[in-house]
Amino acid sequence: MSESTHRLVIVGSGPAGWTAAIYAARAELAPVCLIGVPRQDPSPVLPGGQLMLTTEVENYPGFPDGVAGPEMMSCFQRQAERFGTKVVGQDVTRCDFSTRPFTLETSSSERIRAHAVIIATGATANWMGLDNEMRLARSGGGVSACAVCDGALPIFRDKPLGVVGGGDSAMEEATYLTKFASRVYVIHRRDQLRASRIMQERFLSKPNAEVLWNTVVVDVLGQDKVAGVVLEDTTNGKRSELSLGGLFIAIGHTPATRFLKGSGIELDAKGYVVLPDRSSRTNIEGVFAAGDVADPTYRQAVTAAGMGCQAALDAEHWLASQGLI
Ligand code: NAP
Repeated sequence: MSESTHRLVIVGSGPAGWTAAIYAARAELAPVCLIGVPRQDPSPVLPGGQLMLTTEVENYPGFPDGVAGPEMMSCFQRQAERFGTKVVGQDVTRCDFSTRPFTLETSSSERIRAHAVIIATGATANWMGLDNEMRLARSGGGVSACAVCDGALPIFRDKPLGVVGGGDSAMEEATYLTKFASRVYVIHRRDQLRASRIMQERFLSKPNAEVLWNTVVVDVLGQDKVAGVVLEDTTNGKRSELSLGGLFIAIGHTPATRFLKGSGIELDAKGYVVLPDRSSRTNIEGVFAAGDVADPTYRQAVTAAGMGCQAALDAEHWLASQGLI
């Protein structure tokens, strides 16, 4: 097992992680950015985070014509590397914040030691948790939490498709799917969408778009491939079947904090890192957090980037106060 000690290690490579890296590198902290390893979980988890699974980003200031999510993350990374960020393609599996310098164990059994750590691991897609949903997601049988990654696959072409959820993600995924599907049903548990007006209208203006209101999916049908879903009307409990060639789940995200279990970092009931004084400081001195992993409210690329900047500045001040720079 090899071991190395750094002034600042940033865990995560979305807008928060890369922005923290840009600021920390320019402050000559020689940051190391642990960007993670691509994996199926059962939907894709990629270095670069959720923007790697997004088509056009139209609300990040400075891009009047929009920018593709992966292209944007590649620009963030290049900017961080330009100022000397060291990029390491590993996941952190465990953290020990009880002794200093802190110890981070990685997926390749390497031990990385750091005087300060910024947690910027973002969040991953939620599932309904139905047995057949999970089985068909794991087997590639037509259940997915990422329309942008999977929607263009031939198995979904010209088929009726379902999208579960009523937020901006559901609208974005559903709108994207209208290009390929014969019909797209948004299946929403209430009688009102949570999504922003512009995203709703973009979906609802498509001729093959439909919302099934007050409806939940209680089972997914099909042996090797999705054949349909069993729906329940939440107002009267009535069940019905709907034939579908694919089902996309867009019901929010869970912060990626499993690796912090037992580390002493305070998490809230949903697993978000708690920032007690609304700066980037966690309950452990020298450990900071930024982006969706610590933000149950805004969860935007631009707010994550702002938090990444705050975390780098807070880390720099803290390292200076400890005589470590
Ligand atoms: P979200 O806003 O939390 O919406 C989740 C949706 O899933 C809600 O409609 C919720 O229903 C529904 N839901 C949750 N659990 C469910 C369950 N077990 N069964 C059925 N439905 C369930 O999450 P999001 O859409 O992923 O958006 C997250 C953040 O990213 C938001 O701030 C959003 O604005 C942002 N975002 C922005 C864009 C964009 O502007 N381009 C694109 C995507 C996301 P209820 O409404 O009943 O709670």
